[in-house]
Amino acid sequence: MSELTFSIVKPDAVEAGQAGAVLQMILDAGLKIRAMKMIRLTREQAEGFYAVHRERPFFKDLVNYMISGPVVVSVLEGDNAIARYRELMGATDPAKAAEGTIRKRFGKSIEANACHGSDGPDTAKTEVAYFFSRLEMVG
Ligand code: ADP
Ligand code: MG
Repeated sequence: MSELTFSIVKPDAVEAGQAGAVLQMILDAGLKIRAMKMIRLTREQAEGFYAVHRERPFFKDLVNYMISGPVVVSVLEGDNAIARYRELMGATDPAKAAEGTIRKRFGKSIEANACHGSDGPDTAKTEVAYFFSRLEMVG
C-alpha cells in the first residue's frame, strides 16, 4: 500500500554538499519525492519538531545542530515508504549503520547523522503537516 513519509537532509549533509547525493539514494531506492524545499529552521520550529525528545540529555545540542544551517525537507511516497526509508537511512549511530545506508555513507556522528525519517504512520502524518501545506504537495 502506498504511503507518505517525511524526510530531512540534515545540516551536516547540506553543508557538506551531500544533499543531492542523499536525494539520489532516495530516488534510486524507488521512493518518489512528492514535495521538497530548502529551509532554515528557527529554534522554536526545531524544538517543536523534536518535542518528543525534550527530556533527553542531548535535546539542546540536537536543536542547536538542527538550526546550524539549512536543511532540505521532503515528502516521500511509495509502497511501505516509512519502513523502507528507515532501512535506507540505517541506524541512528552511523558507526552502527549497515553498508549501503545513507548514514553509513554520510553520517558524521550519532548527532550529525545526515538524515531524518518518520518512524511510523502517526509521526509521518504529523511531520508532513508540520512542514507542508496541501498546496505544496505535487502529483
Ligand atoms: P532516529 O533519527 O534514528 O529516529 P532518534 O529519534 O532516537 O533517532 O533521535 C533523533 C535524533 O537525535 C537523531 O537522529 C540524532 O540526530 C539525535 N540523537 C539521538 N541519540 C543521540 C545521542 N545519544 N546523542 C546525541 N544525539 C542523538
Ligand atoms: Mg526518531
